[in-house]
Amino acid sequence: MIPSSFEYHAPTSVAEALSLLQQYGDEAKILAGGHSLLPAMKLRLAAPGVLIDINKIAELRGVVINGNVNIGSMTTWATLEHHDGLRSACGVLPEAVAMIGDIQVRNRGTIGGSLAHADPAADTPAVVLALDGQIRAQGPGGERTIAAGDFFTDMLSTALEPTELITAVILPTLGKGEGAAYVKFPHPASGYAIVGVAAYVKMDGGSVSTCRVAVTGAGPKAVRLTDVEQAVLGGADAAAATANAGAGLDILGDIHAGEEYRRAMVAVYAKRALQKAMERASG
Ligand SMILES: Cc1cc2nc3c(=O)[nH]c(=O)nc-3n(C[C@H](O)[C@H](O)[C@H](O)COP(=O)(O)OP(=O)(O)OC[C@H]3O[C@@H](n4cnc5c(N)ncnc54)[C@H](O)[C@@H]3O)c2cc1C
Repeated sequence: MIPSSFEYHAPTSVAEALSLLQQYGDEAKILAGGHSLLPAMKLRLAAPGVLIDINKIAELRGVVINGNVNIGSMTTWATLEHHDGLRSACGVLPEAVAMIGDIQVRNRGTIGGSLAHADPAADTPAVVLALDGQIRAQGPGGERTIAAGDFFTDMLSTALEPTELITAVILPTLGKGEGAAYVKFPHPASGYAIVGVAAYVKMDGGSVSTCRVAVTGAGPKAVRLTDVEQAVLGGADAAAATANAGAGLDILGDIHAGEEYRRAMVAVYAKRALQKAMERASG
């Protein structure tokens, strides 16, 4: 359980971190909360020659709510969980974050680290997909914004280039007529999602005008449940829209939950998330 040796850098600005990333390229890895990277290094599943620790970059931390919600990539789960303004502006995020791991994990783990790692059972990928969020990244070519729907490309894979750093995550503020919810069936030891579903609904004049539902934990990456969304927009209630929510999905089975069981749980949790989101949108 001892990682292979590595060079360590602790830049204090984004510019410095980017220049180190460019200098070392594929050899380097960003270190955020370390809750995924360090275990992987100790198990020798990852052996970066250079670690670029971004914990000293103050500009990457914090939440700004001003028309939308701008979250610095190094903001920890604990900050998001206890942020008062966030609870009223975009309550589904603290709702989801409060279910992550345990207190130690929430004190260290960061939203940027989680999205960059793209663990198939992580919670926030489903939330950012359902909210149609954006991931802001900086690299040698400058800054770019990646839609959540384009960000997760496969298991543990994203649209980020090796020389890019996630700087922020942008989510909408939710107003009257909008509701969102996250529910999950957690792994009893780690808390990771065996199945987790986030839903967002916007009501206009008593009917649903926008609906996004995303699932995590079930397959290799978090995905939108577009059939469910279309059914809701066509007038179906949550139960009818989600009855076959797991059908056609790429589902992975493991020792914790087989493929058939996980597929069944997608329907159960999609219904619960959608019902909650609809209640909140009409409340
Ligand atoms: C016991 C345990 C239980 C957990 N339970 C849950 C759970 O229930 N739900 C859940 O969602 N998660 C869970 N996690 C994961 C945890 O919440 C962290 O989100 C996750 O480890 C990644 O965040 P981090 O800040 O630790 O990133 P790190 O481990 O530091 O980095 C992860 C990867 O992302 C890259 N990276 C980090 N930051 C950036 C950046 N800004 N730009 C580009 N690349 C970057 C790193 O190079 C690395 O490849 C758990 C972890 C543990 C150890």
